[in-house]
Amino acid sequence: MKKEKLVVIGNGMAGARLVEELLARGGAAHFDIVMFGDEPYGNYNRILLSGVLAGTHDPRDIFINPLSWYQEKGVTLHAGVRVERIDGRQKLVHGAGGITEHYDKLVIATGSSAFVPPLVGLKNESGQYKEGVFVFRTLDDCTAITQHAAKAKKAVVIGGGLLGLEAARGLLELGLEVHVVHLKGHLMELQLDAKGGAILQRTLEGMGLHVHLKKNSRELLGHERVNGLLFDDGSSLACDLVVISAGIRPNVELAREAGIHVERGIVVGDDLRAPNEQDIYALGECAQHRGRVYGLVAPLWEQAQVLAERLSGRNPQALYTGSQVSTKLKVMGIELAVMGAQEVTGEQDEEVTYMDATQGIYKKLIIRDQRLVGAILLGDTSSAPNLLSAFGRGTQVPESRSELLFPSMGEASTPSVLQLPDTAQVCNCNGVSKQNILEAVSKGHRTLKKLCDATRAGTGCGSCKKDVQALLENAVGDNSVEDPSAHYYVPGVPLAKAELVAEIKARGLRSVSAVFEALADGREDVASKTGLASLLKTLWGKDYEDERDARFINDRVHANIQRDATFSVIPRIFGGVTSPAQLRQIADVAERHNVKMVKITGGQRIDLLGIPKEKLPEVWRELGMPSGHGYAKSFRTCKTCVGSEFCRYGLGDSTALGIAIEKRFQGLESPHKMKLATAGCPRNCSEATTKDVGAVAIGGDRWEIYVGGAAGSRVRKGDILCVVDSHEDVLKLMGRFMQYYREHGKYLERTHDFVERVGIDKLRRLLVEDEEKLAARLDADIQAAVDAFVDPWEEAMRPHHPSQFTHTLPMESEASGSVARPVTAEA
Ligand SMILES: Cc1cc2nc3c(=O)[nH]c(=O)nc-3n(C[C@H](O)[C@H](O)[C@H](O)COP(=O)(O)OP(=O)(O)OC[C@H]3O[C@@H](n4cnc5c(N)ncnc54)[C@H](O)[C@@H]3O)c2cc1C
Ligand code: SF4
Repeated sequence: MKKEKLVVIGNGMAGARLVEELLARGGAAHFDIVMFGDEPYGNYNRILLSGVLAGTHDPRDIFINPLSWYQEKGVTLHAGVRVERIDGRQKLVHGAGGITEHYDKLVIATGSSAFVPPLVGLKNESGQYKEGVFVFRTLDDCTAITQHAAKAKKAVVIGGGLLGLEAARGLLELGLEVHVVHLKGHLMELQLDAKGGAILQRTLEGMGLHVHLKKNSRELLGHERVNGLLFDDGSSLACDLVVISAGIRPNVELAREAGIHVERGIVVGDDLRAPNEQDIYALGECAQHRGRVYGLVAPLWEQAQVLAERLSGRNPQALYTGSQVSTKLKVMGIELAVMGAQEVTGEQDEEVTYMDATQGIYKKLIIRDQRLVGAILLGDTSSAPNLLSAFGRGTQVPESRSELLFPSMGEASTPSVLQLPDTAQVCNCNGVSKQNILEAVSKGHRTLKKLCDATRAGTGCGSCKKDVQALLENAVGDNSVEDPSAHYYVPGVPLAKAELVAEIKARGLRSVSAVFEALADGREDVASKTGLASLLKTLWGKDYEDERDARFINDRVHANIQRDATFSVIPRIFGGVTSPAQLRQIADVAERHNVKMVKITGGQRIDLLGIPKEKLPEVWRELGMPSGHGYAKSFRTCKTCVGSEFCRYGLGDSTALGIAIEKRFQGLESPHKMKLATAGCPRNCSEATTKDVGAVAIGGDRWEIYVGGAAGSRVRKGDILCVVDSHEDVLKLMGRFMQYYREHGKYLERTHDFVERVGIDKLRRLLVEDEEKLAARLDADIQAAVDAFVDPWEEAMRPHHPSQFTHTLPMESEASGSVARPVTAEA
């Protein structure tokens, strides 16, 4: 059978989902599939852009289909190519750069664009948006906002709808003062009534957001660069960053110019076909079905399924009859579930509300003829599964309305995911139903990780993972399988750390590629490289065979990359003790290189921020000081207090000890960073008890050694490993603990997790009492690692390769071979 050609315009959430659904139904046997996407990437989860802006998601983690996926599936993707014209008569699609494709069937999935109101002063003289003005729709928008935010202080978001508030959350997380200006009388008027809007506003203001309601923006102030916003009422707001989030408009121009019937969106029937066109379909946010244009993902999952059924021939009669819109989302981290009507429409309607403004909770139900026709749940969505089920199925609601609002008050009335119908959607981010999950379990995906990987459930915001786990446990019962991969040191080599270390040593594997070759059937796994490199360095010291592609950018150039792609340089200042000459030297270098910021770090070091990559070797040479390893998964610093030499409370010379510790262990590779401190007495001015390893003088030349302390996102007082009575013994016991951690800690496991996992009693038995006669070997191995130390900044004199410090963006060719594009993040 000769294959037809299917062309899809738009590689967003709808277009790519359609292709996936089609392939799952054997569509590759019917069609050669060609896609155009004007974003230069594979398909990513647009919903998670808010997380990228807020810094909770790495851009690389939001991709649903990377470019390699298209290649693997035989789909030709013209990434970064905008379609400029559809010729319906000749059945041709003309893309930018002269790329033309013939189609037998055409699907338009061009989504929406941000609506930008005609503000005075929007653009500069060259017709571009003024510097500092953005919309929030794509990954590139996100990158541009983040970059500008690094040099901005005060942001205004125009629009207090869902997307505006999500942008505001991201900007708050980036440390800006954020103002939201909204035309209407309350926030999120499409989802919330006035009371709900007021409660949301109060909660958001409590988080530091400034909200201005009933404000009509008129003009963006500033010449080339925005510096304020002027309102219709004559008032104004100074700012240096503006995000316009005033609604969306379906992308329909292409269809309109091709003579396809367009109203607000591209008009389609229940078959998702444009009525007067035999072979043209539309879906997603650009489509208008039965008068409705949807702005959320759930409807497009359903549309993609129906269209795939039809096109694949599996069910040519499949129809899309519209979506009942119910939404469960998080607005700036606050849970919200909305379904159906917001307001009562007549006397027959019953309204049930509960409000607790101090807790930010608002619940409202609208009941008609004993059936739920609308609900708003803000701040507490525990009853959402119940309500969604009652709303979706139109079942009678219980007489006691409080059972509906507070599931725990009813008799076993909280329907767990187990009680929901198979068609119920479990993962909203990726449109995964209960049935999809159960099918995947029956196909053998019997661990949480495998199940999530196979279905994508839980890989978005992650809030449904507990439901996926419950479904798995219920489905497999006693046959549940423990996920062995949970114990692997790195995902790409199927061995736990102890076994991996044994194999590496037994086989003499000294490079990352040798490990893949010997222990992973030659399959290289990018995600595993840095963890393996760290372990090999730990095990082999100077005999480790370095392969540069196994390192992070920070480790390749020995400096910490910053938000604006410049680097931070922290020279080592042993024990935090410096001298006038050293300070003068640092000041001279900072001045000569116009360093953007000079900052004293929490670890008592001096950080020179804003150095371009190509300047790094010069700066290091001029400083003439060793690297402070402020970027590395290694020993970082030893913070010291004044100690007995000057402090009148001092019981021990914490400064001398700190310098000795730092000289000995500088740059020592480890599973995660290690911050140390010494304190001259239990007043603990250097916070030694909350460091990875700390020593506190307690008098009579004695020192307590603490391990596993933390004072970051988690705060934990370290456990006392032992008490020793000389500086030498402090160095010895600390080294022994560090070597044991280097050998047994999982990659990226901080000492506080490690100490809890192994247990302080066991550590004392092993390292202090030497129950298993390990001490001598550990002491010798840490000595070997200390002896192997080389200052990485010596590469200033001998770069590893000519382009080590030049500024290039790596290029990656895309699936169709038609474009080469820069990748966004350093590989
Ligand atoms: C920040 C943000 C947060 C969101 N949060 C939620 C949420 O929590 N819940 C929810 O349900 N929805 C949310 N949404 C909405 C959701 O992302 C959209 O409903 C969904 O992406 C629509 O899919 P689509 O494929 O129709 O459009 P899109 O995903 O926008 O894809 C359309 C693609 O077509 C491309 N394109 C357009 N014209 C052309 C052309 N001429 N040639 C080639 N390519 C073209 C576009 O560049 C784009 O890549 C959010 C959206 C954003 C921006
Ligand atoms: S910890 Fe004790 S010795 Fe050190 S500075 Fe504070 S008071 Fe002085």
